[in-house]
Amino acid sequence: MEPKNRSGRDNFAISGIFLSQLERQQPPSPSVIVIGGGISGIAAARALSNASFKVILLESRNRLGGRVHTDYSFGCPIDMGASWLHGVCNENPLAPFISGLGLRLYRTSGDNSVLYDHDLESYALFDMDGHQVPQQLVIKVGEIFERILKETEKVRDEHAEDMPLLQAISIVLDRNPQLRQEGLAYEVLQWYICRMEAWFAADVDTISLKSWDQEHVLSGGHGLMVQGYYPVIRALAKDLDIRLNHKVKKIIQCCNKVMITVEDGTNFVADAAIITVPLGVLKANMIEFDPMLPEWKVSAISDLGVGNENKIALHFNTVFWPNVEVLGMVAQTSYACGYFLNLHKATGHPVLVYMAAGRFAHDIEKLSDEEAVNFVMLQLKKMLPDAREPVQYLVSRWGTDPDFLGSYSCDLVGKPADLYERFRAPVDNLYFAGEAASVDHSGSVHGAYTSGIMAAEDCRRRLLLQHGISDLFQIVLREEMSEVMVPLQISRM
Ligand SMILES: Cc1cc2nc3c(=O)[nH]c(=O)nc-3n(C[C@H](O)[C@H](O)[C@H](O)COP(=O)(O)OP(=O)(O)OC[C@H]3O[C@@H](n4cnc5c(N)ncnc54)[C@H](O)[C@@H]3O)c2cc1C
Repeated sequence: MEPKNRSGRDNFAISGIFLSQLERQQPPSPSVIVIGGGISGIAAARALSNASFKVILLESRNRLGGRVHTDYSFGCPIDMGASWLHGVCNENPLAPFISGLGLRLYRTSGDNSVLYDHDLESYALFDMDGHQVPQQLVIKVGEIFERILKETEKVRDEHAEDMPLLQAISIVLDRNPQLRQEGLAYEVLQWYICRMEAWFAADVDTISLKSWDQEHVLSGGHGLMVQGYYPVIRALAKDLDIRLNHKVKKIIQCCNKVMITVEDGTNFVADAAIITVPLGVLKANMIEFDPMLPEWKVSAISDLGVGNENKIALHFNTVFWPNVEVLGMVAQTSYACGYFLNLHKATGHPVLVYMAAGRFAHDIEKLSDEEAVNFVMLQLKKMLPDAREPVQYLVSRWGTDPDFLGSYSCDLVGKPADLYERFRAPVDNLYFAGEAASVDHSGSVHGAYTSGIMAAEDCRRRLLLQHGISDLFQIVLREEMSEVMVPLQISRM
């Protein structure tokens, strides 16, 4: 780090007129400011720091992790943001960290489950009257749902124009009346749609027919992080220069430098910046760019969708529910269906986590925490009339929290195919990373991580060239970790 200047701030923090300050600055080794302390920002900062760059990370909140948010107030780790490792395999770029830290995974599904991150083998579904749905019916409707989805591929092939997945499902059902379901089976079908909406954090009438099944899912199924995700963040962030409570308001690009202004007026100057704030924050123009971002970037930001997913975690002093992974409520519409993840099964802690996605997740945020808990407790009591009251609860608000404004990106109907590429492409010395910048794994922790590493690498190459420094350093993150690599610890194989 450079010596402190007279104001007591280090050389990144400079107030006054930008250009005159630049003249006085003696740029030593390349410097980079990373904006956002989620997994992508921390990965980028770690990689550049390992490559001996001067790096400062500015994070708006008083905590690191962003949408990786493990809460410990129940006396056990509860992930209110990401909780699954999608792709329990060594190809997952997070595998070396997870195994190296000795973190355990509880696998909730194998590859290609119709319920995405769950298998059908450990669930209990109930109707609105509290009767348990026979397992045979759930399995049968699951198979029918898969056939309906397969048939939508034909609809996609026939139509040049994109359409909402719901519309394609209606076309399939018109053509194949034998696939239509009635009564309880219809409600179970709505539950499958509800689960699909949870995966995309979006309603089925907004999910793109063209893109919904095009994502590249890693093999190995999906594993819950039994001890929570935060240990990964903590390990990656070790010894980095991180400034919490630094909300970035303005980014100026000038003369191969960037000047970044935070809420209290402090300015930071560096050779480049990596922007990892959530897509929702960029959409809402919470950060001013001078000069303005080019049209191709602005349209990528506005055309990418942001979904919403919320969790209501309930801590009980006793376990009164069946020993299944998922407790679900079927209903006449996917909106009215619901489900609880039973953390007791995976972690041994007496906690149920209710999940809400899409419009329903937005509506939950209109309620107070207490009202939201009362609402889900009503659902639970319909399923299990003897349900106890929770002793503690947590309610997430990803859609309205000004540091996120959504849970993760999603493909809207009829949008161009190159949006993720454009979102991630740099604008001179401004680099973009984060889950929405991951072309193959958007909406995931590992995708966000990889995008941070990629942005760091692009940035590193540019600055080395610019500074005339030979390319001595490699991004060594994965190699370093692989020295301590041990197999992933997975329960429920
Ligand atoms: C409810 C929920 C469940 C999820 N479940 C899973 C899952 O099971 N598995 C999975 O792989 N993924 C899951 N995800 C997605 C995953 O959490 C994200 O893809 C990933 O964590 C995003 O990381 P990121 O670095 O791109 O962004 P973030 O983690 O959002 O980091 C961005 C950071 O920027 C900060 N910031 C915002 N504005 C400013 C500003 N003006 N100045 C400075 N800093 C700012 C934010 O505070 C934040 O810390 C889930 C997400 C949610 C919300």
